[in-house]
Amino acid sequence: MSEIKTIAVIGAGTMGNGIAHVSAQSGFKTFLCDVKQEFLDRALKTITKNLERQVTKGTLSEDDKNATLGRLTTCVGLDCTREADLVIEAVPEIEALKFAIYKELNEKVKEGAIVASNTSSISITKLAASTKKPENFIGMHFMNPVPIMKLVEVIRGLATSQETYDIVADTAKKMGKVPVEVNDYPGFVANRLLMPMINEAAYALYEGVATKEAIDEVMKLGMAHPMGPLTLADFIGLDVCLAIMEVLHQGLGDSKYRPCPLLRKMVDAGYLGRKSGRGFYSY
Ligand code: NAD
Repeated sequence: MSEIKTIAVIGAGTMGNGIAHVSAQSGFKTFLCDVKQEFLDRALKTITKNLERQVTKGTLSEDDKNATLGRLTTCVGLDCTREADLVIEAVPEIEALKFAIYKELNEKVKEGAIVASNTSSISITKLAASTKKPENFIGMHFMNPVPIMKLVEVIRGLATSQETYDIVADTAKKMGKVPVEVNDYPGFVANRLLMPMINEAAYALYEGVATKEAIDEVMKLGMAHPMGPLTLADFIGLDVCLAIMEVLHQGLGDSKYRPCPLLRKMVDAGYLGRKSGRGFYSY
């Protein structure tokens, strides 16, 4: 595989619809797969709305919007992955679910195709080991919201080949992104740095160092962060933050990654952030 022309994105949720959007907009023939047509319809609606916003802002022409939608095909199930040069998996962060998908891909993808995972925290090396060609497997960690955020962490598993890395980094560039090369260790770079900061903000609140508003204000005004860490945690989902802290704690074995008891308690209570209407703040 020397050049990627066709991309299949598996999972039409938050990340998958954004990845399919930038893929189609960047000229790749793009398939978006999910388990139900209604999820695909919802994703297509979101993509169309986001493209229309670009047209209104004057960053995309009406013709380019229509051409982008013309390059995008939705598909229930994984059959369309047969045509793909690059498959990007963006299903929920459940190891068993990802393994089941790779098992099916082992039968379906064409010779030489590359498979990438958008996982935030699962070992790329471990995921790769369940595929028939671990050298063709890699991490492509896009940031949310995908059409806006420039970064893609490109994560090499232990077996990932140089050719796979080069093709994927080049494809990320063609998608208008900046690929950053990262080796496969827990949390990669983005979450290894971000999540301990959020966890420490939860500790500062837990220990009564300052109010939630004060903690967020310090990081916004003092460090020029666009939003404070507790607001950001609500946006990401406290369950997601806790799960990533557990991965760091377990995978690196260092007590500095222990999850804050307040974070754990809030997740136990169902206070998951924006998505549940309540986290550090109420929505
Ligand atoms: P999501 O729950 O919004 O979407 C997942 C989609 O996958 C759903 O539409 C679901 O129906 C679909 N799906 C489930 N099983 C499937 C199957 N067998 N075949 C096809 N589709 C299936 O999840 P998300 O937030 O988009 O996260 C996806 C991945 O991206 C996860 O690995 C997550 O860790 C990672 N990630 C998420 C973010 C974020 O901010 N949300 C950021 C970076 C990385």
